[in-house]
Amino acid sequence: MTDKRLNGYDYLMNYMGVSKQTVRLAVEAEKASAAAFSQADEICSYNQAKVLDAMRKNRLSEAHFQRATGYGYNDIGRDVTEAIYADIFRAEDALVRPQIISGTHALTVALFGNLRHGDELLSAVGQPYDTLMSVISARGKGSLSDHGITFKQVELLPGGRIDYQGVADAITAKTKLVTIQRSKGYAWRPSLTVAEIGRLIEHIKKIRSDIICMVDNCYGEFVEVIEPTEVGADMAVGSLIKNPGGGLAPVGGYVAGKREYVEQAAYRLSAPGIGKEAGPSLGLVSDMLHGLFLAPQTVCGAVKGAIFASRLLSDLGFEVSPTPDDTRSDIVQAVRFGNPESVVAFLGGIQAASPVDAFVKPVPNPMPGYDCDVIMAAGAFVQGSSIELSADAPMREPYIAYMQGGLTFDHARLGITLAADRLVSQGISHT
Ligand SMILES: *Cc1c(COP(=O)(O)O)cnc(C)c1O
Repeated sequence: MTDKRLNGYDYLMNYMGVSKQTVRLAVEAEKASAAAFSQADEICSYNQAKVLDAMRKNRLSEAHFQRATGYGYNDIGRDVTEAIYADIFRAEDALVRPQIISGTHALTVALFGNLRHGDELLSAVGQPYDTLMSVISARGKGSLSDHGITFKQVELLPGGRIDYQGVADAITAKTKLVTIQRSKGYAWRPSLTVAEIGRLIEHIKKIRSDIICMVDNCYGEFVEVIEPTEVGADMAVGSLIKNPGGGLAPVGGYVAGKREYVEQAAYRLSAPGIGKEAGPSLGLVSDMLHGLFLAPQTVCGAVKGAIFASRLLSDLGFEVSPTPDDTRSDIVQAVRFGNPESVVAFLGGIQAASPVDAFVKPVPNPMPGYDCDVIMAAGAFVQGSSIELSADAPMREPYIAYMQGGLTFDHARLGITLAADRLVSQGISHT
């Protein structure tokens, strides 16, 4: 034994074939990120206290972890989960269910529950996330459009700034609900901070105070110390296999916000007249709340991983968004690789550094809803979970990959280092 203390980088070099050169760059990137990391730690600490307090106040106890089945009437575990979410979001009410399969499903329930024939849905920040476009406009599949609900979007201005005048001009008497996507999704635009979302909502409410403002909060939970429902959002909507499930929730989605809108969403999820009264938690309360309790820490690790990736890949000469010192509002890191080889090499490295399916080599494949092949790297304990280290990229110019997650900062840092080494060893860095 040497007396030098060993760390994960030594293991990467000694057993996993990562070069000394890459590790040197990684160590430098980490050092340069110290201030940003410490900011993330402070946010984490605040959010940990917030989550703890919500669990204490709602008197969470072992009795809530019983398995409820069937109709789920009087399911106290489900009810306490929803009360805890409502507290964390400073919201009147919340719908938090394992029967909600995904973020898209949660958004679908919120939209269909609150929109009626003849209403108009407006996106204030450009085109919504890809899967939502089908919900809005797919022909003959029961989309909003099939139900007589029209849709308009206001494009973002250059640099991703909100077009306040455009939003004002787009609002009409028909506008019932405005959707605001916090995260960049698959677009090269800055994610919106909660404060920016607040300003936009204030602007909308000044024009017509009865417009429902809904925030697609996917990837945003616990990245800041406040959530959109604290700055006027009528609903915040997200997925439990992203941030708030902390990596432990096996499925689920949530809608948190004003009681009347959450109730309408519940009528759509179950049935009109039944709403929140039915829907069993199926023994998942413990996993959902255990994950929620760890979520501030998990999200913090993912944010630090994203900061580290941003620094390391920009040091290698790639354009990144956000930059290492930008304020963050979600866990997504975009990297403009500029060529297909780099994308395949980097995503191959992320896959090789996954705890599950590390032996699989990701290749570009056609995907429904895309006009080009898409490559995805994910080796997750929960299928499709993107709070676990994952990355994907549409295979088209300018070859941008979007990466996120990491159940621990150590995993994110080591996985990203291994993936960067694929770039370095193939001599395809831009430096
Ligand atoms: C992931 C995501 C969705 C959809 O969530 P799924 O769980 O994949 O259905 C919607 N909006 C944004 C911004 C997302 O990141």
